[in-house]
Amino acid sequence: MDATLKPIAAKVFEGRRLEPAEGVALLQSGDIWTIGRLADHARRRRHGLAAYYNINRHINYTNLCALSCRFCSFYRKKGQDGVYEYSTAQIADLARSAAEAGATEIHIVGGLHPWLDFSYYTGTLSAIRAAAPKLHIKAFTAVEIVHLARIDRRPGDLRGVLADLAAAGLGSLPGGGAEVFDDRVHDQAFKGKIRSDKWIEVHRTAHELGLFSNATILYGHIESPEDRIEHLCLLRQAQDEAISAGHRGRFQTVIPLPFVPDGSALGHLHGPTGLDDLKMLAVCRLMLDNFEHVKAFWIMQTLELSQLALSFGVDDIDGTVGWYDITRVGGSDTDQHVDVPTLRRAIREAGFIPIERDTLYRRVIRDGADWDVVACGTAAPPPTVAATA
Ligand code: SF4
Repeated sequence: MDATLKPIAAKVFEGRRLEPAEGVALLQSGDIWTIGRLADHARRRRHGLAAYYNINRHINYTNLCALSCRFCSFYRKKGQDGVYEYSTAQIADLARSAAEAGATEIHIVGGLHPWLDFSYYTGTLSAIRAAAPKLHIKAFTAVEIVHLARIDRRPGDLRGVLADLAAAGLGSLPGGGAEVFDDRVHDQAFKGKIRSDKWIEVHRTAHELGLFSNATILYGHIESPEDRIEHLCLLRQAQDEAISAGHRGRFQTVIPLPFVPDGSALGHLHGPTGLDDLKMLAVCRLMLDNFEHVKAFWIMQTLELSQLALSFGVDDIDGTVGWYDITRVGGSDTDQHVDVPTLRRAIREAGFIPIERDTLYRRVIRDGADWDVVACGTAAPPPTVAATA
């Protein structure tokens, strides 16, 4: 074992919180097997052999965006080739067909559209609610929420905007738009986007309103190990605050997202390697001791690596997805979908027990496209292995 990891290992086995310097030491260590073993210990202590997946559908409603983040290859400007936006009716149709196919969740994010007004967003949520009443709507990153507050000319009223969206059908917030909580990285890679304080304020406000949310970190570009750990510590602190304030909403899952250079203004960078992916997932588990779940998003980390990641701290590999336009390369219109037997086989083959969950980590009991839930996730203790086998 790397000698610098010995005191960290002792703390992990005693269930004690790691300091920022210890997180940096983990990221700087080449001892991937010890890091994985520690993360696996923390993961099994919380979840046993349970490994979660869901049946979901992603909709990226527009790629027209007012910003031009340097790491992003998704956005387009007005008149550019490939620019698109979905109407409310199109989104409702997609949601209906997803629900008819058995999906429990629709995941909606998009660019910061310069001239759609607030009623497009509330109208879309209401239309989905009418078309597919059971479907949980997880939608709009913190960046989009701030954008919606601006276009509705109430930039200081995040609570009112979130309450209006929730009244129209919003069920929870995804974790996107966090990128890296560091001003240098912000100014060099995504200037114009909200900074960490605003991102956290949106999620805090959502938690106060009783909405659950997720968190992300975009790694493998121009950030340092110290930047990554600072980001995770800010998330950990925000979760501590949500828990001690007694908010019903809180962060459920952290989703570390690897930077994909292709087609972006940072295309000269190589992006993270597979070992960096595994290390980052493991370090998220070890540093975020107050987050219930760590997700490998198979679309980005690949299903093959996600199988291995289940032994590196990960307990969730997301879902069936359908289309995911954000990292689609070269204008391809291929379906990015995995079927349920493939997901379950991947989990079993890795030595874990597949459990279908809904967005709130309740266990799904399914009969074809019909389904119901039993509480077993964030709001209640995780299932035991015996109960889920
Ligand atoms: S990352 Fe989001 S906000 Fe930035 S350019 Fe891409 S779509 Fe727009």
